[in-house]
Amino acid sequence: MELLYKSTRSADKTVTASYAILKGLAEDGGLYVPTAFPELDVPMEKLAGMSYQEVAYEVMKLFLTDFTEEELKSCINSAYDEKFDTEVIAPLAYADGAYYLELYHGRTIAFKDMALSILPYLMTTSARKNHVKNEIVILTATSGDTGKAALTGFADVEGTKIIVFYPKDGVSPVQEKQMVTQKGDNTFVVGIRGNFDDAQTGVKKMFGCADLNAALDAHGYQFSSANSINIGRLVPQVVYYVYAYAALVHNEQIKNGEPINVTVPTGNFGNILAAYYAKKLGVPIAKLICASNKNKVLFDFFTTGEYNRNRDFYVTSSPSMDILISSNLERLIYQISGQDAGKDAELMKSLNETGTYTITDDMKKELADFYGGYATEEETAQAIHDLFAKTGYVIDTHTAVAAAIYKKYVAETGDMTKTVIASTASPFKFSRSVMTAIKGDVSQYSEFELVDQLAAISGVSEPAAVTEIRTAPVRHTTVCEKNEMEAVVKKFLGIQ
Ligand SMILES: *Cc1c(COP(=O)(O)O)cnc(C)c1O
Repeated sequence: MELLYKSTRSADKTVTASYAILKGLAEDGGLYVPTAFPELDVPMEKLAGMSYQEVAYEVMKLFLTDFTEEELKSCINSAYDEKFDTEVIAPLAYADGAYYLELYHGRTIAFKDMALSILPYLMTTSARKNHVKNEIVILTATSGDTGKAALTGFADVEGTKIIVFYPKDGVSPVQEKQMVTQKGDNTFVVGIRGNFDDAQTGVKKMFGCADLNAALDAHGYQFSSANSINIGRLVPQVVYYVYAYAALVHNEQIKNGEPINVTVPTGNFGNILAAYYAKKLGVPIAKLICASNKNKVLFDFFTTGEYNRNRDFYVTSSPSMDILISSNLERLIYQISGQDAGKDAELMKSLNETGTYTITDDMKKELADFYGGYATEEETAQAIHDLFAKTGYVIDTHTAVAAAIYKKYVAETGDMTKTVIASTASPFKFSRSVMTAIKGDVSQYSEFELVDQLAAISGVSEPAAVTEIRTAPVRHTTVCEKNEMEAVVKKFLGIQ
């Protein structure tokens, strides 16, 4: 049973999974989606007894049908190994009425590691399968965490180069230090004077530019993407929702078949879309609670049916969610339009030209499983403070947005369905914001003094990712304007 992929924006052409991974974005600017949704073919009670790697195989084989069993298992076992600081890869921690799914035990201590640890293996396997001769240039825009996770994954991977653009003044000090100290001769990190949306728009433009792509080809290069628009990012993220459910069953915290809710701190809509795909696979997920920070474009969308990016952009304490164009929402739009590529293309054209689009009433009905919420900066800090005061458990700012919204959701609806909250980053990545929330003014302390304090109060030892950057030398200093991105790429690749 081969599963093929097609663009959200046109009906005709289908491609294999490995081709979709190589290309990242479809030629018409659309996102690749599966032509049908597979279903889990192993019973949950069996999955409940499996390791993370075994669950990963059972899920990924359904989506990546042109990979052989040997190829897929080799990718999985290379990715989910001692790079993670816990054998279970994605542990669940119970605190104050919710299960926190800790997705930050990989090398860069953010959930992006869950997919970006495996993407380089999927990508190089895909290149082999498709007889690609060119060197692959990974072009990535980051709101902070994707960049480092992608750099770490692709550093010194043969046959690849990686270029990362980040908003110069829009990431946390730890995030920036992690990126500009990146090792690897094939890595290139650039700060842009602009926000994440500028970076993402610039990258998308380069993907779509025929002249640039021809110039690359002439020099033996071709682009691919490590952003969450790549299905090679999305599919590995479906795994941990299946794994979380199986683990809850295994630990007798839920009965097999019992519905759960999922709350996801959301930016580009990749992580929550993976939960939606897990639901489609047959995991009993009831509500998908979409948590936004002050950049609440998704909250407004779920409430009104209008997507409107024409608004002020805020830099918040949860920078990886400071996004006004949530790219992966397009995959949901396609789905709720009844897989109508024409409708999808029409709405995306409207978004591109006017910054807004409005879905039909029929489409809105299809969103019944989603609940949108948003948290202010104060509510986010309060959530960190209160959870620590009550339980001693420390969460990062992004996870705190989700925790705050989950509280509001329960207060509003009375829905007591057991809930998994995606915990997307280690609090050590945002020590200043986290310690401010817990202790009040900490402006007299340096970033690393706050790391020490956080370790002391949480009883969690400092992650290796933080220790590394205490002394690592800066290797990347390029900064450019947002209209200079293409020139920077050409210069790096030696293209005139
Ligand atoms: C990327 C990121 C998010 C947002 O995830 P999306 O898949 O873009 O919605 C949330 N929290 C953290 C810590 C992240 O790095």
